[in-house]
Amino acid sequence: MTCVICKSGETQLGTATVTLEREGATVVIKGVPARVCKNCGEEYVEEAITARLLKTTDEAVRAGVQVDVRPYAAAQPLLVLLQHLPPCISRFLPFVPHLLPEHR
Ligand SMILES: [Zn+2]
Repeated sequence: MTCVICKSGETQLGTATVTLEREGATVVIKGVPARVCKNCGEEYVEEAITARLLKTTDEAVRAGVQVDVRPYAAAQPLLVLLQHLPPCISRFLPFVPHLLPEHR
């Protein structure tokens, strides 16, 4: 896509460092998948990913965190990790069948 900030650069897949501030807490998440403008460096993060980051920040606020830096991979909830397991491994997790997507 063409960058909406400089209107001349093309974006390419890369990673971004996202800083979220919430109720006095600051959470910095590194290695977030994003599209980055080759011209001006503007970063575009998908809505679904942004929503997940906000959820992570909320959890950090509830845990009493004031400043935290974490990699994106660690910010993913367990459920997401389970859904990305190949079926051959999911079969061995009979204790969480209700969490797994159907048709596996
Ligand atoms: Zn740009």
